[in-house]
Amino acid sequence: MLLTDALCIVVDPHDAASDRTGDLAFVDGRVAPDTSAWHGHETLDVSGCVVTPGLVNAHHHLLQSAFRTLPGTRGVPMREWLPTMASSYDRARVDASLASASASVGIAEGLLNGVTTVADHHLTWPSEGSIDTHVEIVRATADAALALGGRLAFVRGAARDDPERAASSAEAIVTAILPSHTRGVRADGMLQLAVGPAGVHSDAEATFRLLGEVASTHGLRRRTQANEQVDTEIALSTYGRRPLDLLEEWGWLSPDVTIAHLCDVTEPEIARLAAAGVSATHAPGCDVPMGWGIAPVRALRQAGVTVGLGTSGGGSNDAGHLLADARLALQVSALVGPQLRARDVLAMATAGSADGLGRSELGRLTSGSAADACVWDVSGVADAGVADPVAGLLWASPGRRPRHVIVDGQVVVRDYALVRAAEPDLVATMTARITGRG
Ligand SMILES: [Zn+2]
Repeated sequence: MLLTDALCIVVDPHDAASDRTGDLAFVDGRVAPDTSAWHGHETLDVSGCVVTPGLVNAHHHLLQSAFRTLPGTRGVPMREWLPTMASSYDRARVDASLASASASVGIAEGLLNGVTTVADHHLTWPSEGSIDTHVEIVRATADAALALGGRLAFVRGAARDDPERAASSAEAIVTAILPSHTRGVRADGMLQLAVGPAGVHSDAEATFRLLGEVASTHGLRRRTQANEQVDTEIALSTYGRRPLDLLEEWGWLSPDVTIAHLCDVTEPEIARLAAAGVSATHAPGCDVPMGWGIAPVRALRQAGVTVGLGTSGGGSNDAGHLLADARLALQVSALVGPQLRARDVLAMATAGSADGLGRSELGRLTSGSAADACVWDVSGVADAGVADPVAGLLWASPGRRPRHVIVDGQVVVRDYALVRAAEPDLVATMTARITGRG
């Protein structure tokens, strides 16, 4: 595929000097070194558009797409939010059909907003019956992503699971879903598996240790959440320690670990995260409405921590719109120090998120990178008068959506519409599943 006549191509999100105008060629699912490698297939006119790497949503809970704006989940502390959500999951019965319906909606929503890769931290599993049902849930989620054309990093999470059962489930999932892989990534790069308990507030040392063993056996990445206020409170009341003290003792402060949220971290804790090589995910679209505060992103980055961006799930952030949350990240950053720069937040939402997944081929458009891109049409009135079209992507036109989205060299969103599915069908399937009709 050849994209022609771009107003601006963001090649390396970390380096504004790499931005250029003109054409961009994708060959065999990769960014070609120059347009001469192009074989002469599809051409896409992107004049008047900014082309960025595909966005990488580093933290979502796709299942929660079926549970947005639930009564009793807004304006309440997390200790009330958790049981309200849990009873809704129980009523709805978490199974493969619910996973499929919610993943289809969540992944489609993401693609329409420019998210080409999503990390789904799945925390809710049937606690009884065969673990075959767990494998079916993962397969349903993966199938939903593949059908729509998005990349999925599925995180086998845990939240108060029996530790042994969580570990055998994770093992069964890897065996069934990824019989062959490199460090948890399927050869075609479309599917990745990782593991991660919800946090020290919900899971004890045994779960961290046993899921960590599955990760080290198979070379999977590890992901968890820490230092929301309730996490800190529970760690203090249960163990008399702070969450990062526990994670360190349990072998979970290391370069293969990414921690979401991190709202309530001290300066010395930031230094420890940096020294341990842990990466972070900022999720202001969850942290702000939940009242958890604003993670010290600037300080984390300055200390050398790789920071990605995530939306978290529909139970707290009712949207999966990563660019909207990038804008929110900019806005709220000014409340906790010098404001973040748009360029840096774009880098977080692309390369930063990708690096936390151990996927340095994603999130940039340098030669040889994956052919995942968003084409943002900035020719409308909402962008008129914008001096810097890249900064404008985040600051101007709230709720902006890309005109085209390309994953693995294939157009999966064209002219603001899904290519491989019809939105009304996805909505109807979800509605039928959660209302029990149809
Ligand atoms: Zn979260």
